[in-house]
Amino acid sequence: MSNKQEDFIVAIDGPSASGKSTVSREAARKLKVNYVDSGAMYRGMTWKAVREGVDVKDAVAVIELMNRTRWEFFIEDLVLKFTIDGDDPTDHLRSEPVRERVADIAVIPEVRVFMVTRLRETAEFGALVMEGRDIGSVVFPDAEFKYYLDADPEERARRRHKELLETEGKGDVEQVLSSLTRRDKIDSTRKTAPLQIPLGAKVINTTGMTIDEVVDFIVDEVNATR
Ligand code: C5P
Repeated sequence: MSNKQEDFIVAIDGPSASGKSTVSREAARKLKVNYVDSGAMYRGMTWKAVREGVDVKDAVAVIELMNRTRWEFFIEDLVLKFTIDGDDPTDHLRSEPVRERVADIAVIPEVRVFMVTRLRETAEFGALVMEGRDIGSVVFPDAEFKYYLDADPEERARRRHKELLETEGKGDVEQVLSSLTRRDKIDSTRKTAPLQIPLGAKVINTTGMTIDEVVDFIVDEVNATR
């Protein structure tokens, strides 16, 4: 559990459905380091609020709820997992009520401070690949490796639609595109830690690339430097 000198951090940022999650998970697996999905924590807080009937736009109520939640973190098969008040929220994180509200929770500055602190602590488990919106800019601005993944909006909507068909058996491309666009707008225009290309990050447009090509690009670069 020590943050050793040789532990390194790979920060991967980008908008929804840019390929970030699959690429980050796979890159971490190939590099044999921990994978941390920072969005899962914002989603976890959103799930908790929905479950407790707290309006996510009521910042005071969200902060009050957040301050009395108990989070526990652990590593399972090189993936960071967590419980909130003893419950494992994993199966609910991608549900519709959560995905429609998470960007509103993520604009609350106190929520961001809480999450950034927890996310930094995960480096105590060792080297990691962390994905999110502000990893290379705020959480780990000194990360040794920083990437910003992007893809054309239509391509991102197509990918997310495919994902929804697989997980929920339904989905409408137009509706997915408008939901993604709405979330991107909130994420990139918020005052605290907006989605941006972090200083020193390499931008990869994944539109015409396969997942493997993106993963290999990152893994080869990390391995070549270390
Ligand atoms: O990456 P994912 O789609 O799971 O993130 C869900 C939401 O959580 C984002 O739309 C964003 O509002 C928020 N988020 C954030 N900062 C991060 C990760 C996620 O604001 N580092």
